Amino acid sequence: MSPHRWMMTAVGQPLVKEPLVLGPLAAGTVRVEVAGCGVCHTDLGYYYDGVRTNQPLPLALGHEVSGRVVAAGAGAEGWVGKAVLVPAVMPCGECEACRKGKPTICPAQKMPGNDIHGGFATHIDVPARGLCPVDEARLAKVGLQLADVSVVADAVTTPYQAVTQAGVGPGQLVIVNGVGGVGGYCVQIAAALGATVVAIDVDPVKLEMVAGHGAAKTFNVRQVEPKNLKKEIGAFAKAGGLPSREWVIFECSGTAAGQLTAWGLLVHGATLGVVGFTMDKVEVRLSNLMAFHARALGNWGCPPELYPPALDMVLDGKVKLAPFVERHPLERINAVFEGVHARKLTRRAVLVP
Ligand SMILES: [Zn+2]
Ligand SMILES: [Zn+2]
Repeated sequence: MSPHRWMMTAVGQPLVKEPLVLGPLAAGTVRVEVAGCGVCHTDLGYYYDGVRTNQPLPLALGHEVSGRVVAAGAGAEGWVGKAVLVPAVMPCGECEACRKGKPTICPAQKMPGNDIHGGFATHIDVPARGLCPVDEARLAKVGLQLADVSVVADAVTTPYQAVTQAGVGPGQLVIVNGVGGVGGYCVQIAAALGATVVAIDVDPVKLEMVAGHGAAKTFNVRQVEPKNLKKEIGAFAKAGGLPSREWVIFECSGTAAGQLTAWGLLVHGATLGVVGFTMDKVEVRLSNLMAFHARALGNWGCPPELYPPALDMVLDGKVKLAPFVERHPLERINAVFEGVHARKLTRRAVLVP
């Protein structure tokens, strides 16, 4: 297969396959032969909604990449031959934000498929710094292929960072709103850390899937009145001896309706993690944060140092991937984008070159 990548040329226009010229590599960078690249709603935001990429079009999208290092520039030779995850956001490691331990706000960060060409390609060139090695023996033991763990690069690490940042632990009540790609893993991670998890969605199929993977209780917001939802969760908490306050709520739907639902669940001392993204606006009474002494946390990407523990959860079998991903040939990228956009897929699509 000759090297190639799929380019986005304009909003909504079919992605175009173009040959890829594999040039020499700069010092500190590696070339990864892509095993798989997950399709994220962020990609669809660029493609359908006109969210602007940092690097102007044409650009290859895709930021959930796993693969094998096949070449390296000076200083990165030790990576050649290794199976790796490419972090969705790669901080520079040298600026003031990075030195202060805040790599997610690094102004020089590189995101594949946004700042540099992404993983909907046979190969991707990336900085070696922050790459996460994948233990292939452990991977085989849990019955996964290298392509499958591409979704760890964003769909798993993003909620892992959100859950870690919110300090989720045993005895807590965690509510996850929107249990698609990212939210489904948020449920599993929070449950693996000992929390009791309530899952909310509009899709009965997704709710059924998380009910078997970490959710202790599910609610379909098409069937429960929004104003009754908080009451019903309160009743569930009471029955299970769980706290009626300090709920940790993760908004993973990335929809205006979902954000309103999550906002409506604030209780005293609550933590709201905003994990999903939408261009839409919502009208809320921001003072509820003040009155409840609650807090809202943003969540951009995940620091590279949290990738190994996040991947460990998968390799230890605490977070199950297999039921939540499906592989498709990269050649079918245009059809797969359409399918994901039309919400015809219930699992996360991984494109395999
Ligand atoms: Zn993403
Ligand atoms: Zn930096």
